[in-house]
Amino acid sequence: SKIITDVVCPFCGTLCDDLEVKVSDDGSKIEEVYNACVIGTEKFLHSQATDRLTVPMKKDDAGEWHETSMNDAVEYTAQMLANAKKPLMYGWSSTSCEAQSIGHEIAELCGAVVDNTATVCHGTTLIAVQDVGVPSCTLGEVKNRADRIIFWGCNPAHAHPRHMSRYSIFPRGFFTGKGHKARKMIVVDPRKTDTAGMADIHMQIEQGRDYELLSALRVAVRGAPLPETVAGIPREIIQDAADTLKSGRFVVIFFGMGVTQSLSKNHNIDMAIMLTKDLNEHTKAAIMPMRGHYNVTGSGEVMGWQFGYPFSIDLSRGFARYNPGDSSSNDLLRRGEVDAVFVLGSDPGAHFPFSSVKKIWDLPSVCVEPHYTPTTAVSKLHVPVAFVGVEVGGCAYRMDAVPIHCRKVAEPPEGVLTDEEFLKLVLARVKEIKGVA
Ligand code: SF4
Repeated sequence: SKIITDVVCPFCGTLCDDLEVKVSDDGSKIEEVYNACVIGTEKFLHSQATDRLTVPMKKDDAGEWHETSMNDAVEYTAQMLANAKKPLMYGWSSTSCEAQSIGHEIAELCGAVVDNTATVCHGTTLIAVQDVGVPSCTLGEVKNRADRIIFWGCNPAHAHPRHMSRYSIFPRGFFTGKGHKARKMIVVDPRKTDTAGMADIHMQIEQGRDYELLSALRVAVRGAPLPETVAGIPREIIQDAADTLKSGRFVVIFFGMGVTQSLSKNHNIDMAIMLTKDLNEHTKAAIMPMRGHYNVTGSGEVMGWQFGYPFSIDLSRGFARYNPGDSSSNDLLRRGEVDAVFVLGSDPGAHFPFSSVKKIWDLPSVCVEPHYTPTTAVSKLHVPVAFVGVEVGGCAYRMDAVPIHCRKVAEPPEGVLTDEEFLKLVLARVKEIKGVA
């Protein structure tokens, strides 16, 4: 066996880059994973599953699954995308930037809508950033400088298990030599989560009233009078939280879907960014979304530099249009405005509303995915591929928008293509069908 060091974990947006993986000498088997949390470890070990699918599976008209060849899988996918009037190409958050870029070229040729998982997650954050800008920083700065940390509507103890130990609460950094002893932690969550249980101040906010509490914190930071309670939180606690933040040397607000997808959506984030701006009158402050999929940030970056917008991009008129709420996946699916669905690097079958999933079931559909998932179950064709970050390298962006190159540590099973290889074959075939050089 040999140990591969400095391996990057391709699971969550923390993108931990200090893993060590023990593999057999020929690279065919992963024997052990060190330093990763339990979720990250499972990602590596899942690739070793003995019941893993290695050949494409196609559903016949009676709903029965049959093995098919890779050539047929490429042909079906290319014909479906090239012949559709307006296909939806969704996902992209669990693959490399290199694969995303090839997928976008196919989308442009086919007049597709390209959308990523931000559409049901931090899309509201991206809209707010376009509204008011974003004062942010890197996770390295958080580790070395931040002494006041807010987790708003997120639960890193479970969703990003090493975030607090590597960057935000426990580590000793250059100017934070006392680690968690010198940091104050504020959690805003209607639930008593494990993260909330560790907080110095837990504001157990009434569900959906984030906008009001953010506004009240801005008032308290300015020293103006507050009503007796706001969003279920007594004014003394709000004032205490505001004073705690103002007394710090470096405040960071981390926030998750509990605030991006609750009532007021992007306006909550507008207000959180404005709170960050206000805090900068007193100390240094930054704000950062807790991104879920390990490369959802990269998908926004690649869409941004290729099309000018970070998600929900409609290319059906030959140029990029962006109108979330109109050009976003669920709206299009539920209104019946797309006529084919291609999914790569995500699982809408598990996370979209039933009415949208039913549309994927009804339409010609392809899911490119190493695992069996609810999306593969409702698609017409399931193409198994190599695990990015395990069996093939590639670029991914951490939640603080720092690009990191993921390493290959093991060989994929024989005959299994990478996302990039499959997309390149589809692109070449689409070009033939469309008569493009
Ligand atoms: Fe992987 Fe996230 Fe766990 Fe780090 S915290 S090891 S990136 S799943």
